[in-house]
Amino acid sequence: MANILEISPKTLESLVQRAAQEGCTVDELVTRLLDPPPTPAQTQESLYRLIIENSHDPISLHSLDGGYTYANPIHAEVLGYTVDELMDMPAEQAMGMIHPEDMMVALPVYQRVINGESVTRAEFRMVRKDGATVWVLLTAVPIRNEQGQVTQIMGMTRDITDRKRTEAALLHSETLMREVLDSVEDVVWSITIPDSKPLYVSSAVQTITGRSIEEFYTGAPIWRKVVHPQHADALDEIEREVAATGWSEREFPILRPDGEMRWVSVRAWLVRDADGQPQRIVGIASDVTDDRKTQELLELRYSALEATANAIMIADRNGYIQWVNPAFTRMTGYSLEEARGKNPNALVRSGFYDDEFYSVMWDTILSGQVWMGRLTNRRKDGTLYTEEQTITPVRNSAGEITHFIAVKQDVTERERTEQLLLEHERLKSRFRREQEQNFLIVRTISALSHDLRTPLSVISVAKDILSRYFDRLSLEVRQQKLDSIGRQLQYALELLDDTVGLVNSNLNHRIFHPALVNLDALCQISVDEISETSLGHTLKFLNVGGVKTATVDEILLSRILLNLLTNAIKYSPQGGEVRLELDATADRLVLRVIDHGLGIDPDDVPHIFEPFYRAASVKAIKGTGLGLSIVKDCVERHNGTIRVESVVGQGTTFIVELPK
Ligand code: ADP
Repeated sequence: MANILEISPKTLESLVQRAAQEGCTVDELVTRLLDPPPTPAQTQESLYRLIIENSHDPISLHSLDGGYTYANPIHAEVLGYTVDELMDMPAEQAMGMIHPEDMMVALPVYQRVINGESVTRAEFRMVRKDGATVWVLLTAVPIRNEQGQVTQIMGMTRDITDRKRTEAALLHSETLMREVLDSVEDVVWSITIPDSKPLYVSSAVQTITGRSIEEFYTGAPIWRKVVHPQHADALDEIEREVAATGWSEREFPILRPDGEMRWVSVRAWLVRDADGQPQRIVGIASDVTDDRKTQELLELRYSALEATANAIMIADRNGYIQWVNPAFTRMTGYSLEEARGKNPNALVRSGFYDDEFYSVMWDTILSGQVWMGRLTNRRKDGTLYTEEQTITPVRNSAGEITHFIAVKQDVTERERTEQLLLEHERLKSRFRREQEQNFLIVRTISALSHDLRTPLSVISVAKDILSRYFDRLSLEVRQQKLDSIGRQLQYALELLDDTVGLVNSNLNHRIFHPALVNLDALCQISVDEISETSLGHTLKFLNVGGVKTATVDEILLSRILLNLLTNAIKYSPQGGEVRLELDATADRLVLRVIDHGLGIDPDDVPHIFEPFYRAASVKAIKGTGLGLSIVKDCVERHNGTIRVESVVGQGTTFIVELPK
């Protein structure tokens, strides 16, 4: 028995202390306590009893039915009873102190001891007298009689309630911790130092990596298994940085078994023990693939805003600029830094619009509507530009307007093109009107020549009769013929007057009205329009001098071009190229109309600008002989000159020079 009973050091210590207090040895103390002098066997038993009584370990002896045959004070104290109460307790009640839920643990222990076996470290709960539960750690041994039969059971029941509570709390907190860690989407992990063995990894690692959690508890350190091979350096960097600074953060891609690449952001830090020695590395890894995608998308959108040709401006609710893109800078000349915090209306205000205009704009956007409009603003360098602008109010989740986004397009060029087109259309209709008038003049003149025929032939006949038969005619008949001549002359003159009036009114004898005209467009229009009426000619316009606009009278100029181009075609009956050249010298505009037609006889050249003069060689070609006189008049009204260079059979060039 002695070798089984462990005398606690505390028991021995109290015996030693008492012996010291009484100034004797432990042996003397024990001898004195064992009075009357016992038999050696009794002495032995008493010694044991003394030891057991003073033991700090709860010790009890039980009959085979479980009833108490002995209990030391500590044992009784553990169960909340007095020693006497335990000794008087019926066996059934003593066994009943075992917690009902732990019967299945405790009863087999008793059974085994009854069967002669020693059982160590059985843990179960017992119910104290006050109803509280106490955890005990039982070591039980059978006590045999001289025949070797088991007659009693000795138990040493240590109170382990506190330990159990701590364990439970620990278990609970660890379970709780694991539950928490496993429920988070991020991976919580921990590795040893310095050999990087996995200590812990939370279950999110499965979702992120597509591998089972077991894989992470064996072999290589956690992230080495999955990191994208091209980014293996990231791990070394993390470990190096953690070792050096205690902290590191990196983003790197990982490869899932299905080949999908995902991005993780790993934050790791060093955990030290109480002595400050590095103990382990713990970390959190988050799947940032979606964040990166969102970020990429945002970056893409941002780049789109940056790159777009439209100027974009974001202003706060009070209209102060917060952001502008490079197109805005290109359009206005103001950089982001210069524009930020400014009011756009003040920044680029041209002064063209009154306060009413801006207040309507503000009312529109503040009421949540989109404002669209075209306005001319002023660049940083003072020049004007026209923009088409859409201002959209932006609301927050509460529906309040927080910002305005203005998208602007520089339409200065478009406006210019539109104006050019308009100008083009205007010039075209002007030219067509000239064509019609010219046509009318031609018709009027041919009608005149036809209508004059009747009175002239009447006059001619009357004159013939008079001169041939003058002597034979009576005075009365002579008078009749003279009257007829007079009437017909009168009629012819009236006809001529009417025609001249008509021609004059159509030629619109007006004073010179110079204005800035797109001469380039007017020349092109003239060539295009004449082309439509010509057959077998190639009409070309060449702006040799790169002239765009010029101050001329567009009606007169249309007339010049119309007549010269019409003649060039008319007097090139075999077809061929007719070219209009626009050129300029320092102080003159030069127009050349070049054909490769009949040419003009040098004898005719001095007369061709006279009204109704037509060269004898062109009688077969219809004409009035008025065109060049009209051209000359138009040129002179510009204070310009006209001359002709011509070679019969080779062609003609008319050169008009107008002061700029
Ligand atoms: P029209 O052409 O009606 O005869 P114009 O006054 O325009 O009257 O021309 C006067 C004359 O000048 C023409 O009749 C013709 O003899 C001559 N002429 C004008 N332009 C040309 C030309 N490009 N080539 C040859 N002759 C021309």
